[in-house]
Amino acid sequence: VGAHVAAVEGARALNAFITETPEHAFAAAKAADAALAGGSAGVLAGIPLGIKDLFATEGVETTAASDMLRGFVPRYESFVSAKLLGAGAAMLGKLNLDQFAMGSSNETSAFGNVLSPWRARNSNAALTPGGSSGGSAAAVAARLVAAATGTDTGGSIRQPAAFAGIAGIKPTYGRCSRWGIVAFASSLDQAGPMARTVTDCALLLGVMAGHDPRDSTSLDVPVPDYAAALDGDLRGKRIGIPREYRMEGMDAGLEALWQQGADWARDAGAEIVEVSLPHTAQALPTYYIVAPAEASSNLARYDGVRYGLRVTPEGGNLNDMYAATRAAGFGAEVRRRIMIGTYVLSAGYYDAYYLQAQKVRALIARDFQNVFKQCDLLLTPTAPTSAFALGSKSDDPIAMYLNDVFTVPSSLAGLPAMSVPAGLDDNGLPLGLQVIGRPLDEAGVLNAGFALE
Ligand code: GLN
Repeated sequence: VGAHVAAVEGARALNAFITETPEHAFAAAKAADAALAGGSAGVLAGIPLGIKDLFATEGVETTAASDMLRGFVPRYESFVSAKLLGAGAAMLGKLNLDQFAMGSSNETSAFGNVLSPWRARNSNAALTPGGSSGGSAAAVAARLVAAATGTDTGGSIRQPAAFAGIAGIKPTYGRCSRWGIVAFASSLDQAGPMARTVTDCALLLGVMAGHDPRDSTSLDVPVPDYAAALDGDLRGKRIGIPREYRMEGMDAGLEALWQQGADWARDAGAEIVEVSLPHTAQALPTYYIVAPAEASSNLARYDGVRYGLRVTPEGGNLNDMYAATRAAGFGAEVRRRIMIGTYVLSAGYYDAYYLQAQKVRALIARDFQNVFKQCDLLLTPTAPTSAFALGSKSDDPIAMYLNDVFTVPSSLAGLPAMSVPAGLDDNGLPLGLQVIGRPLDEAGVLNAGFALE
């Protein structure tokens, strides 16, 4: 019992969970036993999962890691979590994240940062698990859960997966319903699985995906059996290496791993071709206009009237209540995004910033359309570095945003993209490779990931 308690306390020190739900897990485990005995078990019967605390869960507090939603207990279940629970999964709890999924290090959470279970060989510094799905990444990497849900707006599944040495896939925009997920930037948000292996991701995605009339952008297309299709055979596939992702000053270890990945793909039968995505450098500034613009609009609903927190200043009117509630409820990064977003959408600046960003977004999407005439899949690094030390970028938003340089282009184009654990850097920290595919080709992306892991 002593060792068990110590293990639980050690696990809790990662701060991966915001809410633990053992009663749910026990009930699901019992139901799984009964279903297995009766021969009618779902594919995830009794599998312990963590759910990112951005998914509404019926009867279980859902916070988006913000003071704004502390105490908010939804009376409905998100489409994605309902599918997982319906397949028999046992929810162990709600996982920590960057507040409203805004961040790349899990340090913007109102519930404290998450610790990565990894340590570098040459330093004892505490490391970030990445973000925004940092709790999901840490919980899976530390073996606290078999798998977790994540959401990815500009890299929040893929970058933490890379930092934590696990697999994660952001499907095509519209593949998984956004219904019941706290909205960040609605034209970019997608849910996806994070797990130790590509096979587990394939199994989970098959459950999470599917059409939902309650999300008007949900795609009404059949969901293939992703797991059954995995064979690691890449014969007949052309894999493009986009030249613009070879950045000045890129870590030599990362560059070598990328080359190694190309060699593995060739060994699996693929042909490797060099390709060009000319607007890659414009993706990051475009994302950091589009995402805050949509966020400022989505977050207008947190007015102290309908959800969560309400702060009523003595003698104040309705506007004072709005202002006091939003000032108290939103963290610094969320306020920064709202201010950027309202600025780029305001009359007089709309044309110069928001409209311009929309045009560049179309050019970025067209780059991918052109490139997918020359190849079937793209192979890139997931992030420019391995996990960085907690606190090392938290005072410098631009340095933080630069982390997303390889993940945002495919988000802006709505394409499926996954991060595969591919090796360790010189300090023994995980590095991820990213595979990007054509719209709805999750099967192709997963199979390439399977060949690389
Ligand atoms: N790091 C990016 C941001 O802060 C992406 C976050 C996400 O994908 N949710 O916006």
